[in-house]
Amino acid sequence: MSNNEPTIANRLTCPFCGNDTDFFQIAEDAIITTHFTQNSDGSFTQEVNDSQVLGEIKLFCGECEEELPPEFFDRFNEMVF
Ligand SMILES: [Zn+2]
Repeated sequence: MSNNEPTIANRLTCPFCGNDTDFFQIAEDAIITTHFTQNSDGSFTQEVNDSQVLGEIKLFCGECEEELPPEFFDRFNEMVF
């Protein structure tokens, strides 16, 4: 077996403070639709949670709370599973 180290160059790092572990995103103008089914006893069961983001989604550093540039956000999206 070859010795394949994970490429750490692919890790996102905050350009402002160097944080590479904590990030958060904020969605503007999101519509969140939640579907319920009413049970025979009158209680409700949540079925689906549908969110539709109409505005921009921005990515922020969780340490210094600076907004990260759009190219960071693109990379972030590719790496979220
Ligand atoms: Zn930062």
